[in-house]
Amino acid sequence: MADRVSHDPVVHITEVRELDRDLVVVPDGRVQLVPNIGVIGGRDAVLVVETGLGPRNAEKVLEFATEYARGRRLYLTTTHFHPEHAFGAQVFAGEATFLVNRAQAEDLKVKGAGYLDMFRGLGEPVARQLEGVVLPEPDLVYDEAYDLELGGRTVQLRATGRAHSRGDQVVRVPDAGVLFTGDLVEAEQFAIFPWFPPYDTDVSGTRWLAVMERLAGEGARVVVPGHGAVGGPELLADVRDYLRLLRDETWVRRDSAMSAETIVEEVRALMIERHPEWAERDWIEKGVGCLCAEHPA
Ligand SMILES: [Zn+2]
Repeated sequence: MADRVSHDPVVHITEVRELDRDLVVVPDGRVQLVPNIGVIGGRDAVLVVETGLGPRNAEKVLEFATEYARGRRLYLTTTHFHPEHAFGAQVFAGEATFLVNRAQAEDLKVKGAGYLDMFRGLGEPVARQLEGVVLPEPDLVYDEAYDLELGGRTVQLRATGRAHSRGDQVVRVPDAGVLFTGDLVEAEQFAIFPWFPPYDTDVSGTRWLAVMERLAGEGARVVVPGHGAVGGPELLADVRDYLRLLRDETWVRRDSAMSAETIVEEVRALMIERHPEWAERDWIEKGVGCLCAEHPA
């Protein structure tokens, strides 16, 4: 998000993977600003999770979902308001019922326009995908928890409280042991901290850690991260352990009144040493900045 993007963040409906009976993921293809997209079916209805960035991507997702649904009713939800997850929802208007948690709906309303501007500034390929975006209005808003009945299958939508954003939610399919986490979890890369003071300081490292401690204890069998390969419960444990270490290593240096530059330098080196294979290293510094601000002085 902080760097300019030179590639086209385009959703490709290829290598669609069936995780369980009537439950598929359109994988992100490891393309930055393309999310993993889920389609979850029941007897009567189908739920789509995430839209892709902008209306052109969302049209592809809607077309795929409509074909997949074969006449079943469509629902759409998004894990949080960030543009590659939610800024295509307008395309689903009249075709699907768009439902989200209240904190996410408020994020969209309060911060949507600012994020649209910020993302347009990431470069021509991103701006092109965002042409014609109209910030969506959910059809249905719930507070903390919503059980969506698809017919013989119940999907649990759960607001987690502030973590990666103010309005994160997870989507759980209990009969399949599948959990969609959005950007609370990324595979094979460092956790995304959208820490952009003074414009956006909603991300909370300490609350995020608390959410991951809870999720890791809930026994998901299959975890669909916001970005990166689908995995098992180890993905939850990896992020939990990373956030804990990032907090501890940041705070112990903060206690010693070390300069901010030195804290970043030392913690960054440690984290890379711990996870040499993880991508997106620049997010470490944002995470350190966030946790410094959350240090109990
Ligand atoms: Zn995000």
